[in-house]
Amino acid sequence: MSENSRECSDSECSKESCEGCDKSQKSMIEPVNAYSTVKHVIGVVSGKGGVGKSFVTAMLSVLLSRKGYNVGILDADVTGPSIPKMFGITQKAKANEFGLIPEHTHNNIQIMSVNLLLEQEDTPVIWRGPLLANTVKQFWTEVVWGELDYLLIDMPPGTGDVPLTVFQSIPLDGIIVVTSPQDLVSMIVKKAYNMAKQMDIPILGLVENMSYVKCPKCGNELPVFGESKLKEISDEIGVDILGRIPIDPEIAKLVDAGNFERFSCDYLSDALKKIENTL
Ligand code: ADP
Repeated sequence: MSENSRECSDSECSKESCEGCDKSQKSMIEPVNAYSTVKHVIGVVSGKGGVGKSFVTAMLSVLLSRKGYNVGILDADVTGPSIPKMFGITQKAKANEFGLIPEHTHNNIQIMSVNLLLEQEDTPVIWRGPLLANTVKQFWTEVVWGELDYLLIDMPPGTGDVPLTVFQSIPLDGIIVVTSPQDLVSMIVKKAYNMAKQMDIPILGLVENMSYVKCPKCGNELPVFGESKLKEISDEIGVDILGRIPIDPEIAKLVDAGNFERFSCDYLSDALKKIENTL
């Protein structure tokens, strides 16, 4: 179970009566699967889809695993799951008497995604909100994650049913907000920020993806989606900048080939430091 600080320290505290602590959240936090120990849980969120939330989740997971940590990815983006494909995972998840068994990447990152449960990966998930939310909850309560140092959750975009369920039922130690220069209107980032704040979940920082393209001839950074407003926003809401990632055609090729783990770059070294130093 996470060493999450939202547990009330008052030994008298009971879920129903404690006014002094965050009992409303505490009461809804679900226990992790009995055969799993997860030290830290990090949610990766974005205001809207397509900004590279899964990309950042996967990149951070690989970087953490390269440092020797045991890492898992819970793909909570149930209607747009892309994590298994990035890692070239095509086999289906199995189950035993202890629960659902995650698949693992070449470097042993544990993965659970709805795509590992569907017979065909292109079958659409046309489910209503409560069913989607329950599926994600079960990925926490019924998946045999084993011993993990870090579980990263690739959240669905926005502030709907599923993100709300994750925030309420999984003991998140912090979230990372992913944005792009286009997406970075303060309103969208602030929505994600305010949701996490209301739920008392620490915001580790902001990552701007698709920040620029590096000209292959002169090396200049071209801001294809417009000038970054990252600094402005981070100053305004008082949240750290954890990295700026360019559109990288080499990594895009690795994604398409299911070889994401082979990337070599240090776009997220600050994010990695922040995670290691904070959690
Ligand atoms: P989201 O999870 O926010 O919906 P994804 O992470 O799935 O977005 O990214 C959308 C697409 O863009 C994917 O095909 C992904 O591989 C690609 N992509 C994201 N970020 C980058 C990047 N920095 N360089 C190259 N391709 C990227």
